[in-house]
Amino acid sequence: MKLEKYSFGIGDRFGQQGLAQLGALIQAKEAGIEIVPVWNKSNREHQIIQSSPADTLHEADSAVKALQWNEPYYVDADHINLKTVDPFLDHANFFTLDVADYIGSEITEQELQDFLKEASAYEGELLIPGIIQAFSVSSDLLVKIARSFLGAVREAAAIYRHIADNKGADNFIAEVSMDEVDAAQSPVELFFILMMIKQYGIPAQTIAPKFTGRFNKGVDYVGDASLFRKEFEEDLLVIDKAVKSFGLPDNLKLSVHSGSDKFTIYPIMGELIKKYQKGIHVKTAGTTWLEEMIGLAMAGGEALQMAKDIYSSAYERQDELCGPYSTVIDIDPATLPLTEEVQQWNGEKFATTLRNIPGHPNYHSGFRQLIHVGYKVAAELGEAYLAMIRKHSEIVGEQVKTNIYERHIQRLF
Ligand SMILES: [Zn+2]
Repeated sequence: MKLEKYSFGIGDRFGQQGLAQLGALIQAKEAGIEIVPVWNKSNREHQIIQSSPADTLHEADSAVKALQWNEPYYVDADHINLKTVDPFLDHANFFTLDVADYIGSEITEQELQDFLKEASAYEGELLIPGIIQAFSVSSDLLVKIARSFLGAVREAAAIYRHIADNKGADNFIAEVSMDEVDAAQSPVELFFILMMIKQYGIPAQTIAPKFTGRFNKGVDYVGDASLFRKEFEEDLLVIDKAVKSFGLPDNLKLSVHSGSDKFTIYPIMGELIKKYQKGIHVKTAGTTWLEEMIGLAMAGGEALQMAKDIYSSAYERQDELCGPYSTVIDIDPATLPLTEEVQQWNGEKFATTLRNIPGHPNYHSGFRQLIHVGYKVAAELGEAYLAMIRKHSEIVGEQVKTNIYERHIQRLF
């Protein structure tokens, strides 16, 4: 199985927007941009929503059938590890091996020496074609990189082999992710991480490093865009060199997690992948749930009331909801609209406060992030919430589709 050049992770918390999401990719295809869909959902999301990996596969299959999508499509067991992977084995063909928690874990002297045996060939000046300044690689740096990342890659290999033993190595795409950490991985670290990935026999087709800057959920990039540009460009060139030097899959590409709404850096990524003719995978999971809330607000009446009540509940439960997402959100509670105030809003005000239109006077990124993590509240409403988004499926679906196509795909490509 070989992943196509451009792919979009279109997670769908509640599993109701498959048609609208695929509709956006069909619109892109008609405009000459070929992107394959990857329905991604993590174990954490399944637990909160009380859905199962079989549901995601069913959603994907149904949308593909209904819209007669004849291109490949994938279902991603997102952020899995050895403890959580088993329920996904029969229902996914893309596995995101999340080893962020294993960064810095203990390695043996033998493992260190095995790595250094190959890595020390790059000691001194490491020249990457396309990057003007050589990286200086000391033996201390190699040891430091090994102590940071070797244990994580070893763990990724264990997960990979477990999946391959069960599914057959040719029947799935492997991604290695290290994005849910505070410290970004530098291009030179990425080079040696890719060496380890090869040494441990993982035919990774996508790699999700932590990039410099904040990738907060559902809102724009926060950080120095010129630093991001430099790092992203170097990462692309490092991957090129690593593919050639180590013999990794030639379609290996970067995967950008929490990739929705990063509008500031979309033109940068778009320009650079075209410049170097590289592919990209962008995960945009939670943005679809926000569009459901916008659709409910616009529908008015009881639907708007439900959207307001979900916000009120999320506001009361900020600590609980934000805790698990602390590395990927940034909310200043003091600026959040008070619940009494929000109860007075009309649908337009709610929708424009939530919708990410940069520069719109109503748009509030804290409001948006809180609702982003507040999907747990909607999940607790269970069938009442699902019935409401089904009842208003037309207006909700329109929001989902427009968001993916106009605000994301058009900006990036
Ligand atoms: Zn991620």
